[in-house]
Amino acid sequence: MKRICFLCLSFSILFQILSSRQKPNIILFLVDDMGLMDTSVPMLADKQGKPKKHPLNQWYRTPNMERLARQGVRISQFYAQSVCSPTRASLMTGQNSARHRVTQFISPEKKNAGPEDWKWEGLTSRDVTLPSILRSNGYHTIFAGKAHFAPIGYEGEDPTKLGFDINIAGCSFGAPGSYFGEDGYGNLDPKRKRRAIPGLEQYHKTDTFLSEAITLEAKKAVTRSLRIDKPFFLYMSHYAVHSPFQSDPRFIKNYEISKKPRPAKSFATLIEGIDKSLGDLMDHVTDKGVAENTLILFVGDNGSDGPLGDTYGCFSSAPLRGKKGTCYEGGMRVPFIGSWVKAGKENPFKIARNHLHHQQIGTVMDIYSTILEVGGAKNPEGHVVDGFSLRKQLSGQLNPQRPDHFMCHFPHNHRSSYFTSYRKGDWKLIYRYLTTGGKRKSKDPLPKYELYDLGTDPYETNNLALRNRSKVNEMVQLMKRRLQTEKALLPSKVISLK
Ligand code: CA
Repeated sequence: MKRICFLCLSFSILFQILSSRQKPNIILFLVDDMGLMDTSVPMLADKQGKPKKHPLNQWYRTPNMERLARQGVRISQFYAQSVCSPTRASLMTGQNSARHRVTQFISPEKKNAGPEDWKWEGLTSRDVTLPSILRSNGYHTIFAGKAHFAPIGYEGEDPTKLGFDINIAGCSFGAPGSYFGEDGYGNLDPKRKRRAIPGLEQYHKTDTFLSEAITLEAKKAVTRSLRIDKPFFLYMSHYAVHSPFQSDPRFIKNYEISKKPRPAKSFATLIEGIDKSLGDLMDHVTDKGVAENTLILFVGDNGSDGPLGDTYGCFSSAPLRGKKGTCYEGGMRVPFIGSWVKAGKENPFKIARNHLHHQQIGTVMDIYSTILEVGGAKNPEGHVVDGFSLRKQLSGQLNPQRPDHFMCHFPHNHRSSYFTSYRKGDWKLIYRYLTTGGKRKSKDPLPKYELYDLGTDPYETNNLALRNRSKVNEMVQLMKRRLQTEKALLPSKVISLK
């Protein structure tokens, strides 16, 4: 009897080893504050659906993103929330921000204003999270870079409390004290110590830029994962390209002759730095012989914060309107590329090559569902998810099952304030709970409703709200229903939704 049990146990262990060996490695490559135009890869389509380059695509240099895009699929209309923490909680939970209630960026020391119950405390070990599910399905889970999941002193400030086996440089805040190794990333400069990056001491007093140090440590962690014979999930989350806009000396020569302002040049060097990191990781898994079994999902966490002009106009995300923190497309559209590091015949999860998927939207909530499917893991029963697997869209086909709506609910004061934007099909409604406030210089009230037909007016130039009241009413009803479905909190200054 004992012998039979021993054999059963041996087979069970063998089966676990074999099945975990077959599981793909997954890299979620997240760039902070990178909008969809902050790249030399054209993410927008022309009228025929072909990639179209715009002036910003000529300004930025991202050869490794170009390499990834040639091998995989770009989704042109990919949505994130308009600021950091809401998107980061969506990536971890698969839920929209109205539902998980991390609706504003998490200020590390003090609860920022908003509805009383908004989840400033961020994620906790009691929450369902993507890495915890993957870990229980045999994955080695690595966190590297900017976390920003919870405030200082709260459980979720440490990614290892949220399902990660390893934490490289992650903590409660979003902006690094310094990108320079010479400054110890803030640790060696009293003026920058408040936002000093933890855990990279070996690079202090060296000329290693922060994006490089995180990449080097992530590569080491990947090597260790492969040694212990486990598939890895690497959440590679760069502090770049968030402010402070410090120039990465490795790349500044590429931008020196431009007449653009100094911060714009520095921002471009930060972009090029994360692109090098992407290439280095692709090379690393190739050198280790696992390129055909490693998936990369590349994404930004909110619209561009490029220092290129007026926040609400058509500058940082041009030709799209607005930037990070606004209710316009430039505030919430981000780059997305999904690809195997090297296409292989044995990959059951097929990804089309050099394909721009422009017809249907994708969202940051979809990443959770897609990664669970790739990793052969299931969403826990009872955990409501707002995302949908991108499998069909990544195969180069349309997915008739996927819904065509996206809601950005922001019951707080910021660049754009107290708004819900709701897209359904080609129509987009912007509803303002209060028509004043925000960081605008003008005190003139803004319209309560804006309505755009993104099919004919993708750059939001023509507000149709006064001319098409019936569509406004229809969209308001749909938005209300969605807010109720997700149990959204309304701004505390607003009694009811009119
Ligand atoms: Ca961000």
